[in-house]
Amino acid sequence: MPLKESEAIVLRTYPLGEGDRLVSFLDRQAGRLRGVARGARLPKSRFGSTLEVLAYIRIWYFERETRELVRINQTELIESFLDVQRDYAATVALSLVSEITDAVLGEREAADAQFRLILLTARAVRVHGPSQVVLAYFALWTARLSGWLGSMDRCSRCGRLFQVESAFRSSDVAELACSDCRDPWMKSISKEALSVGRLALSGTLEKLLKESPAQAATKEILSFALDVLEHHIEKMLISRKTFEMGANGFIEN
Ligand SMILES: [Zn+2]
Repeated sequence: MPLKESEAIVLRTYPLGEGDRLVSFLDRQAGRLRGVARGARLPKSRFGSTLEVLAYIRIWYFERETRELVRINQTELIESFLDVQRDYAATVALSLVSEITDAVLGEREAADAQFRLILLTARAVRVHGPSQVVLAYFALWTARLSGWLGSMDRCSRCGRLFQVESAFRSSDVAELACSDCRDPWMKSISKEALSVGRLALSGTLEKLLKESPAQAATKEILSFALDVLEHHIEKMLISRKTFEMGANGFIEN
């Protein structure tokens, strides 16, 4: 039973037994894993605050071939996002990030790009607050990395380039169609939203933020990306509604 050492991001935790915690975490090399942190809910636990949502940690754990769960031996904080969670709306944004990642990644599938995307997103929420632009970037890239996002540049049916036109989508697939190829029941997606999507997928988050895309278009493309994710994970994202309510209510952008 060798002890493994790795960098990880804590995705979600659940109370287990008397004082333990079940932890879903993203190991930078090994992918998403689940493990037990014994005594993590007891006062003066050696895990301290290292098991908070999206905490970036160094982790040591034992893997047992016959068991699905690893045994978490030790953790050390590299970067905490507890400070971000002083703000309720930011907490919801981080929950959405962890909920999505936990749901989309298969167990033990290497996901270094997703690992970097989470850190980028959480740090951006720290600087910019629970911005829809940041979340749209995260959701679009998560869908792209999962291989669930079709082209945003051309019609999936006839190949026509979308220049200055809206596209159409059905509720269950990410493939977009032009106005000639659309089926009558397809919903439109505005050219402004598509252009935010293209910008997000072709450049850096920093560049996207600098462009400060219009709120309505950002909201539309974020909603599209979340629909795609929900369709593939075959369930509704619990934090989505809370985040969207916040985004429509008291968050500027
Ligand atoms: Zn077409």
